[in-house]
Amino acid sequence: MSRYMNPSYRSLKPYVPGEIPRDRTFIKLNTNESPYPPSPGVIAAFTADNAKLQRLYSDPASIDLDRAIAGAVRVRQENIMATGGSDEVLELAFMAYAADGIAFADETYGFYRVLADLHDLDTRIIPLRDDFSLNPEDYYNLGRMIVIANPNAPTGLYLKPDVIEDIVRHNPDHVVVIDEAYVDFGNESVIPLIHKYDNLLVTQTFSKSRSLAGARIGFAAGNAALIEDLERLRNSRNPYDISRQSQLAGVKAVEDAAYYRDLCVRIVRTREWTMRQLKALGFTGTDSCANFVFVKHPDFPGEVIAQKLREKGFLIRHFNKERIKDYNRITIGTEEEMEALVEALREITGHDKNS
Ligand SMILES: *Cc1c(COP(=O)(O)O)cnc(C)c1O
Repeated sequence: MSRYMNPSYRSLKPYVPGEIPRDRTFIKLNTNESPYPPSPGVIAAFTADNAKLQRLYSDPASIDLDRAIAGAVRVRQENIMATGGSDEVLELAFMAYAADGIAFADETYGFYRVLADLHDLDTRIIPLRDDFSLNPEDYYNLGRMIVIANPNAPTGLYLKPDVIEDIVRHNPDHVVVIDEAYVDFGNESVIPLIHKYDNLLVTQTFSKSRSLAGARIGFAAGNAALIEDLERLRNSRNPYDISRQSQLAGVKAVEDAAYYRDLCVRIVRTREWTMRQLKALGFTGTDSCANFVFVKHPDFPGEVIAQKLREKGFLIRHFNKERIKDYNRITIGTEEEMEALVEALREITGHDKNS
């Protein structure tokens, strides 16, 4: 660190992303990306002619993309704001609504803690129950902004819309952000509730279910006044936040909804298959509703499993945190990748000798 660094940022602990391998080829199951390519329409949008257009700034209001998303989730355009990944819209929401502080679960998306520290927010951490489930009553009248990932990461546990509604109703004077990064894997969104509650903000991303993590597209859905707040902040900070190419790719992805729906069904099916195989090897885990499983083995520390898998060419995600150190989060890949993973884990756990 230089001696010029602003003292308020000197103790920042930045988000530690899953490893991006450069030295050798791994089967990459560590950052919940899709194992499948974007839809044909998206791929066709990457043309030489569109490359030439990159000399022009993108549309700061991303009108075409906002309109496409609004149509897909059945709200008005004034209820949608697309951003450069959902991480951006999360940050804007933290800036806009956490003047009284923020609350989130002890085991959830790690970026919330990073953002809370960056913006020096009064932070309340609410422990999940022993089985990692969330007790809605712990979230009643907290007197501060709340953010909940639903399904949660890294547990994959999902709360039904009536539970979310209960929490939103019990915090009438503060914004409740529901981060639906994994909603497309067979779950129901609470976006329809934005018309009933002016303090509900929902975020989603194109990074997981739409195979576009590298394009950086996310969005918020909420009451028009909330969207206006976020736009005010975005346009004071990074008005051209989504590249021209990504805006176009995003529109095409929305148009190809059927392609992605099929892939989500396929990923859920592979997840269920994987979980059955892992249980047969002695693993236990949460009932994940996302594109990953969260599992542990009674005979091996999580870190050992991650290390042994690495030696066999697989990257998975181990979190070095006391409460979840026995666990690993494993992204669901293709059928073939998961067959290979199960085979590797069979060798690691010694199950190949008994079968
Ligand atoms: C992956 C993820 C995000 C970030 O998504 P981007 O749109 O790629 O920024 C946000 N929230 C949760 C819970 C995630 O897992």
